[in-house]
Amino acid sequence: MNQHTPITIPSHLLPGDGRFGSGPSRVEPLFVNDLAESGSGFLGTSHRKAGVRNVVRSIQDGISALYELPDGYEVMLGVGGATAFWDAAAFGLVANRAAHFVCGEFSEKFAAVTSGAPHLDDPVIISAPYGSAPDPRDVMDVDVACYIHNETSTGVKAPFGRNGDALVLVDGTSGAGAIPFDVSTIDAYYFSPQKAFGSDGGLWLSMMSPAAIERIETIATSKRWIPPFLSLSVALDNSRKNQTYNTPALGTLFLLERQISSGLANGGLDVLAQRSLDSSQHLYDWAGSRPFTTPFVSSPPLRSPTVVTIDLDESVPARDVIGVLEANGIVDIGGYRKLGRNQLRIATFPNIPTSDVEALTACIDFAVEAL
Ligand SMILES: *Cc1c(COP(=O)(O)O)cnc(C)c1O
Repeated sequence: MNQHTPITIPSHLLPGDGRFGSGPSRVEPLFVNDLAESGSGFLGTSHRKAGVRNVVRSIQDGISALYELPDGYEVMLGVGGATAFWDAAAFGLVANRAAHFVCGEFSEKFAAVTSGAPHLDDPVIISAPYGSAPDPRDVMDVDVACYIHNETSTGVKAPFGRNGDALVLVDGTSGAGAIPFDVSTIDAYYFSPQKAFGSDGGLWLSMMSPAAIERIETIATSKRWIPPFLSLSVALDNSRKNQTYNTPALGTLFLLERQISSGLANGGLDVLAQRSLDSSQHLYDWAGSRPFTTPFVSSPPLRSPTVVTIDLDESVPARDVIGVLEANGIVDIGGYRKLGRNQLRIATFPNIPTSDVEALTACIDFAVEAL
């Protein structure tokens, strides 16, 4: 791109909101207004008192309702995001050995945690090349099977399934609140709320089956040393009181509560999921119809409805396209940095209306033409 002649995209082509990042992702401005309007009634009050605890309870009840959780399942939460949950799971859910189904940065990071844990046997790691996903299969002698629902780094929606008696742990960070699944197939479905759930960071939440809760309680009474901050049994006690072990970000709780209650009021998970399906379909169709684009994920069933990765032809450097868009207020559509491809990665989470995604492709077309 010639630095001296900035390309201006005509305003009628621009999306209503320029945020298309995969996380932190677009937060609904109305909810931010609600937070501002809560004035002295929420931020700056104790997380041990009713005002905040009622918000936590509403989040827990809302997730239960959104996913129609069976009896005995509980919604737990703690501070530190999905990354902290990996550490907590290595202490509190893996008895001896885990299996990891790995297909990108995030699933790899969890595998690295149990690989390094001195109190665990080496995990079994089943990996697939980036852009695809391993098929679920039974692995012998493991007590936990770790899957990812949606690999945010590559835009792959991965399958998961039961593995004998092993607990099934699924990272739902970029799928939660956007991709329905059969809850009876999981024991722990955990996520950070700043991606598909369009809130802010710093928290982890997890839907836990009775078997997962039993495992947490069994390990907690064993001799294993568990740092209190990473103790799932401590988190369980606090979650049952609509609290966290240490201080959470209250703004995150507020935004998540608004996101969940508005999702429920507007038709629930199926409606949220449909918006992502429509937006992602538009992008895959668009990428299939332009000479300079190819969907990175070649197998259609593995293509994510919430994070769309599109390779660009060498003649169209992603850096230049991204530069034009950024100069026009459209942000965070670069590919995952460690993938290092000539690629765009576009979030199609439910908070992003399909009309904005349509505007985005019009803007990309305009930028490519102008370059
Ligand atoms: C972003 C992400 C994480 C890490 O979330 P943090 O809140 O940064 O800990 C884990 N898993 C997936 C799938 C993610 O997209």
